Parts: sequence; structure tokens; C-alpha cells
Amino acid sequence: MKRFSGKAVFHGIAIGKIQRLKKKETNVFRNHIEDVEQEIARAEKAVTETEEQLKKLYDKALREVGESGAAIFEVHQMMLQDQDYQESIQNIIRTQQVNAEYAVAITADNFSDMFAQMEDAYMKERAADVKDISERLIRVLSAEEKEDLDTEGATIIVADDLSPSETVQMDKSKVKSFVTRYGSSNSHTAILARTMNVPALIGVAYEDDIDGMTAVVDGFKGELIVEPDADVLAEYEKKAAEEAEKQKLLQELKGKETVTQSGKQIRLYANIGGISDLQAVMQNDAAGIGLFRSEFLYLEKDDYPTEDEQFKVYRSVAETMAGKKVIIRTLDIGADKQIGYFGLDKEDNPAMGYRAIRICLTRIDIFKTQLRALYRASAYGNIGIMFPMIISVNEVKRIKEIVEEVKQELKENGIAYGEVELGVMIETPAAVMVSEELAKEVDFFSIGTNDLTQYTLAIDRQNAKLDDFYDAHHPAILRMIRMVVENGHKGGAWVGICGELGADLELTDEFVEMGIDELSVSPSCILPIRKKIRDHQ
Ligand code: PEP
Ligand code: MG
Repeated sequence: MKRFSGKAVFHGIAIGKIQRLKKKETNVFRNHIEDVEQEIARAEKAVTETEEQLKKLYDKALREVGESGAAIFEVHQMMLQDQDYQESIQNIIRTQQVNAEYAVAITADNFSDMFAQMEDAYMKERAADVKDISERLIRVLSAEEKEDLDTEGATIIVADDLSPSETVQMDKSKVKSFVTRYGSSNSHTAILARTMNVPALIGVAYEDDIDGMTAVVDGFKGELIVEPDADVLAEYEKKAAEEAEKQKLLQELKGKETVTQSGKQIRLYANIGGISDLQAVMQNDAAGIGLFRSEFLYLEKDDYPTEDEQFKVYRSVAETMAGKKVIIRTLDIGADKQIGYFGLDKEDNPAMGYRAIRICLTRIDIFKTQLRALYRASAYGNIGIMFPMIISVNEVKRIKEIVEEVKQELKENGIAYGEVELGVMIETPAAVMVSEELAKEVDFFSIGTNDLTQYTLAIDRQNAKLDDFYDAHHPAILRMIRMVVENGHKGGAWVGICGELGADLELTDEFVEMGIDELSVSPSCILPIRKKIRDHQ
């Protein structure tokens, strides 16, 4: 028995036979070409054929693993169509009078080196993608058969690294786990494993001669156990059976719609604090992100995060969610979330003090930096922005003016941005009372029941001594939610809940009856709520 440790990128237990995947080398030779234009035409034809292959792979991945797993093949198509990439191939053919295969190989090396040297983790990952598309292009040019990945009888796939095209061609019904020597938590192997709901380990320094051996993958401890002893095997067989039982019930709901028996669709989104929560979002099959608490970006740092730093995070979330809605809440600090470098004065009553949108509307520089980052990221996905602690229509009008200024500035600088839905959080009784007017100003409402309860019941949410007075189901709160839904709809805004109450299974039926459009909850609450909604008559 031998144990190899690594980093688990998706939990679970797998037991099976190892199949070691080795890359088939494609040899590329440098040949002198007389007719350069004909060679360029041959390269162009191969690009078109490769695009066709990628489209087919996208459709296959979409059917098998859903949108998030398939998105990479769209990225590959875009990379293949990239003008710089294609011009590089043509330039090399023309200036060096060489064959297209060789020009593609050199371009692949240059581009992947360039990506590998980038600071941004997402861009670094693209180095492997350039190699992947280039290998495909070379295979098309040399009219080679497509790679033949024989995963017959395979269960635990062990490889140095796996490219998206390799993973998508596997027979998923046989694969129980992925183990790679390289790769990162953001690699496609990791994303695919999460989507396929199989344990995966990265960074495992396994020995080369393990092909065909029986092994256990412990995706909790991050261990690959090769040729386990009988008692270790028995222990893991028991664990795997227990795990399977737990997952079975809920997993059946993955990929299913969140729709009541009478056909009403509810958008079931997830709340996150940062990129590290995305794994749980995928794992639990959220239809989008309903609350990204952006202040965590500020809390993690010793100084204001720059526009670029923020942009990278928002873009990464938008891209990972691959077209699904991502609602990012603008900075909500003050009260329980204090940040030293903001230099805020000590207040007697911080919960009712200088916080959230009040800071943003007085420190416009900070607000605009965040809005610029958000609008830039909107070119990469489906972003919505919402504003916390709103009490009046005037605040919203002022926010919209600032948003317009930001858009104008971006336009003047030739920076792209997409369509962005704007919403307000309904967290104060004042916002509830003016919700009909507010609805005319925005696309959506998201009810922050944590603060709404604190301000309505006059109970400090931080004060544990008041727990006995705290009634989460207080009729005042439930009536307010009903009122907000009605007023929102009257004014043309859709209405969701992103406070903790949204995940209260005792209230799900009532929320549905009220006509709520969206619930945004912690990722682990998604599947139990989906079940409740699907059972709703
Ligand atoms: C809320 O107040 O309900 C909310 C979602 O925001 P936070 O908990 O971050 O204040
Ligand atoms: Mg709040």
C-alpha cells in the first residue's frame, strides 16, 4: 500500500482501477514551402475545420456537463479566432516560408509562454488552453485521427494534466475520479470534477508504474492510496457507501428546474463572499449569484483595492458563471464591518450610522472606482449591481447619475461594457414604505431580511442578549415582504430575498405564494430549497 497526498479540489470518495493517461506526442517537422499563399489558405481551412470540431465539443459538453463545463469550448473558439493568434501563424509562414504545422507550433509556444508569465491566475491558466487548441489545429493540418482516449473500464484517471478536450471525450459514466500531477484549483479538471460531482486531486506526485492498480481517492483528506490493505479498503468501502446515500437524495435535484407543481419558476441563486465560494456554487447547481458581498474584497486588504484588482475578481466570477446572472452588491461597510484604512470615526450608534451607500455617496472616488471595475467586468458575463441600505428615491437618482458618469467615461476611453441590471436592497422600513416609487427607478429589489429585521424590530443583530426577543417570523416582517413584492411588481421590478430568511424552509411556501421571483441563499441551502419548491402545489 502506498499513499500520495495532494490537494482536493472536490470532495468525495472513489474506489477503482487506475488508468494512467499519457499524452500522445504529435511530432511537428519544419518544412520549406514554396507557395506561401497556398500554405496560408491551408492554415485558414484548418482553422475553420477546428472551429467546427470545437462547436461539436461544446454541444457535447453542454449535453453532458451543462453550461459551466461547456463554456471553455467557447473560450477556445474565441482564442482560435483571435486576430493576433492567426496573424502570428500567417506571419511565420510568410516570413520563414515554412509549413503551417510548424508555424502553429511556434505560435503556441510563444503565446503560452506569454500567458504563463502573466500575474493573473486566470490568465496563467490560458497557457494550457492555447496549447490545447494549437495541438488540435496541428492534428487537423496533418489529417491525423482525433485523439483516441480509451477510457474503457477506467475509473480513476491519473494524468500529468488534462486538457478540456481530453476530459470531454471521456466516457463520463465510467470515470469516478481525476488525479493530476499539475493543474490548479481553477483548472478545467477541477471545474469538470465539480460539475461531474466526482472527487478530484491535484498536485499529486504519484509514481509512474501505477497503471491498472486498485486505488482509493480520498477527496476529503486529499489522498491517493494505491493498492490499499484489506482493512483500509473495507473502511473506505463503508465510507463511500455512507457518502453515496447522503448525496443521492439531493444530487437527484441537480440540473433540475426550480419550478413549482403549477409551473411557477423561481430563480434560485447563491450568496457568496468571494471567488473561493464559487466551488460550492457549482457543486450545488445554483442558477446564478444573487448576492456577492463585495466588501470582503476590501476587508482582506490593508489598503483600498485598486480598480484593476477589483475588475479581475468580478470578471473571474462573471466568466466562471458563464452567462448566468451575477449580482454584485456595492461596498457595504460600517456598522459590524469596520475597515481601519477607511479612517471612519467611532460612532455611538454605528448600525444607524455612516455605512454602506452613505459612504459611497459621500466618497465618490471610492464608489466610482468600484463601479468602473464592475462595468468593465460586465463585458465578460451577466452582471447585475445592487446598492445596500437605501432609504429614499433621491439616493437612487443620485446613484444613477453617478453610474451614467462612469459609463460615459468608459465610453470616452473606448472601454467595453455590457448590459447591467441595477437593483436596490430593501433593508430599511423606509425603503419598504417607498418601494412602489423605488421600483420605477430600478430593475430589481433584493430584500435584505437580516438588516430589515434589525431595523423593524429594533433589535441589534449583533446583540446575543436579545435573542429571546428576536422573532424571525414576526408578522411585521412577513407583511413587509409581501408589500415589497406587490409594490415591486406594480412598478415593474422583479423581487428577490437575499437575507438569511430566504433560506428558511418553513417559509418557502409562503414566499412562493407571495409571488417572490428569486431566492438567494448559501450554496449548501440550494438543493433543499429546490426540493421544497418542486413539491409546492
Ligand atoms: C441583509 O441585511 O439581509 C443582507 C443580506 O446583507 P448583510 O447580511 O450583508 O448585511
Ligand atoms: Mg444588510
